[in-house]
Amino acid sequence: MINLNNPHLLFIEPSSAISKEPVIDDLTRKMATALKNGKVCENWMGVHTCACGANSTASNYNVENGLKTNSLAVHYLMWHRNEVPESELKKVGKFRCEGSDPEDDFNPNKYREDKQASSKLILKHTEQRAIARKRISSIAKIITRKN
Ligand SMILES: [Zn+2]
Repeated sequence: MINLNNPHLLFIEPSSAISKEPVIDDLTRKMATALKNGKVCENWMGVHTCACGANSTASNYNVENGLKTNSLAVHYLMWHRNEVPESELKKVGKFRCEGSDPEDDFNPNKYREDKQASSKLILKHTEQRAIARKRISSIAKIITRKN
């Protein structure tokens, strides 16, 4: 759900475009502190999965300045900075808390590599199975001929 109106903060849905490297600047670091200090204000039945594969928690959080955000707030600033609207950057910029290192260790680049590797592996298994099936059928033909 996209919502840029107050008290919503970083309720955005970036496309799959992620940056090559995470952006860890003052805004990311401030958001990290704000989220760490945030208090759960809403619980949902499910999680939200970002286009890049990152999952949110099933909660929303009250943070500084009466704003409400989700657990992907830091992730969006780190990996989808080019898709974060100016309005949301301004809200984070107004935080007075000290910045801290983000705890979001989900790496979309790594996730993509792993996914590609596993799909290659599945392909390999499928090929091997096809080869095995051919062998079995040729053996079966030989047996049939002998009979
Ligand atoms: Zn993402």
